[in-house]
Amino acid sequence: MNRAETIADVLRRPVLTRPVLAHEVSERLVQGLGARSTVVEWTATVPQLADAIDTALGAGHALVIERQGGDLIGTCQCGRRLGRINPATRLDALAVPWERHTSGALAATA
Ligand SMILES: [Zn+2]
Repeated sequence: MNRAETIADVLRRPVLTRPVLAHEVSERLVQGLGARSTVVEWTATVPQLADAIDTALGAGHALVIERQGGDLIGTCQCGRRLGRINPATRLDALAVPWERHTSGALAATA
């Protein structure tokens, strides 16, 4: 499957890691309707849909640590910023939020 096919596939039937929650309903919702019908097959927020496409494309969640000036910047490979620490600080300050982010993505509590 090429990228366009993968994206089309997700748009037809996204695999959401968590259902739409009440507090997210203020977001714009995207709905998938059945073929030639008005029956809603799925409902998702835009970020959820983006996340589903991202997951389908196989973007990883590796911890990336970069030096910037005198500080260390932690980001997840998916783009989530984890923080900026001074090199004397234990790397746990970046690893713990990263672990929470990746396990949250898996356990559907992000
Ligand atoms: Zn990530």
